[in-house]
Amino acid sequence: MSKAVMSNTDYEPVLECGNVSKIYGDGAFAVPVLQGIQLQVQRGERVAIVGASGSGKSTLLHVLGGLDNPTDGWVKLQGNNFSKMNEQQRCSLRNAALGFVYQFHHLLPEFSALDNVAMPLTIRRMPRQQAEQQALAMLQQVGLAHRVSHVPGELSGGERQRVALARALVTKPACVLADEPTGNLDRQNALHIFDAMLELSSSSGTAFVIVTHDLELAGRCDRILRLTSDGLSAG
Ligand code: ADP
Ligand code: MG
Repeated sequence: MSKAVMSNTDYEPVLECGNVSKIYGDGAFAVPVLQGIQLQVQRGERVAIVGASGSGKSTLLHVLGGLDNPTDGWVKLQGNNFSKMNEQQRCSLRNAALGFVYQFHHLLPEFSALDNVAMPLTIRRMPRQQAEQQALAMLQQVGLAHRVSHVPGELSGGERQRVALARALVTKPACVLADEPTGNLDRQNALHIFDAMLELSSSSGTAFVIVTHDLELAGRCDRILRLTSDGLSAG
């Protein structure tokens, strides 16, 4: 394929940032959190980010996901610079290219696992039947085919987190940003979810940036980066 007709999805790296800093508040109340952050995430790469509590890991994921503006520096998703886009453009790029997984599942309590996973597709106006088929396939991939009609309150913590993972992946994003996705789970479930993420990453070519406290899990990723007040460094 020639460069001239290369589509956005061929762009590598998937996600990158340079010289990112973040200061909350200003004047006497200024809280500097991030400084001089550089990062490049390649297609399908799994990057773990570790760091002390309060070091700015969640802030960094928000900035990388275009949910919060850096005070300085730039973030590009598939080659598109967030700071050069309006809110609507960011929103549709996020929708097309990113998935998010959090420590707490944030599933809608009134809806079944299937409906929760189908939601990002129906929001994109995919016909209901097609959305449900794709949601079902995704739930099968995370090993939850037998729980599709359960609502979150009828699922275990590990199962809910698998539903949240299926929801993040159902749109086939280029990159998933996961903020302590196993932080609320027992060891066995943490291992299960983590392995599911790595496996899905390999099978779908989705990149993952995973914040975790757990060095053993971090060690299963392609790369570990440590966030400190000096920036991100190989850890
Ligand atoms: P981590 O996820 O590594 O624990 P966070 O990114 O949540 O760290 O927070 C980093 C620092 O920024 C903390 O000191 C926190 O108190 C501060 N902080 C986070 N969000 C805000 C905010 N909206 N306003 C002011 N300070 C904030
Ligand atoms: Mg955090």
